[in-house]
Amino acid sequence: PARRRLRRKLIISGFGRGSKELGIPTANLPVDDTLTPWIANIPSGVYFGYASLALPDSHPDHPSSAPSGAFTVFPMVMSIGYNPFYKNTVRSAEVHILHKFRRDFYDAHMRLLILGFIREEKDYKSLEALIDDINFDCEVAKKSLAREAWAWDKGSKEDAEWF
Ligand code: ADP
Ligand code: MG
Repeated sequence: PARRRLRRKLIISGFGRGSKELGIPTANLPVDDTLTPWIANIPSGVYFGYASLALPDSHPDHPSSAPSGAFTVFPMVMSIGYNPFYKNTVRSAEVHILHKFRRDFYDAHMRLLILGFIREEKDYKSLEALIDDINFDCEVAKKSLAREAWAWDKGSKEDAEWF
């Protein structure tokens, strides 16, 4: 696929539903016709790939050897859609990074490389069932990204199309 101009996005506040308390914080993205048009054109569901983050120099997870403003790549799993369990009326896009951060990074610039589709959006009978499925998605993402074809240092970036 043709390379696109990279457009950096800011992380916004989500619904504050306590995803942090559930152990699954999600960095929410603006769903905006001009800022994130691809969100409108991608089927709802759960995806995996990489997130590239420009953490502030003062952030404890900013690599000390990296220059100021440098982007760091992390594996991620993300959900796009209406979250039927919560019956949202607006589409949301949220990214759970598979890394334990020592501090929040609201307002950080983030780019996404979506590599695969895990499943369609589903409704659940209970919150536990929802959490179980999200944890399963995280495992699918981790295991998929650990395969050589998806590994970050094995060529994923060669024909990468970042959003
Ligand atoms: P909100 O409803 O505001 O999105 P969350 O409970 O989903 O609140 O927490 C999201 C915030 O947590 C992110 O914007 C980010 O700053 C921070 N955060 C910490 N660790 C992670 C992580 N592993 N993945 C995504 N966001 C994280
Ligand atoms: Mg969130």
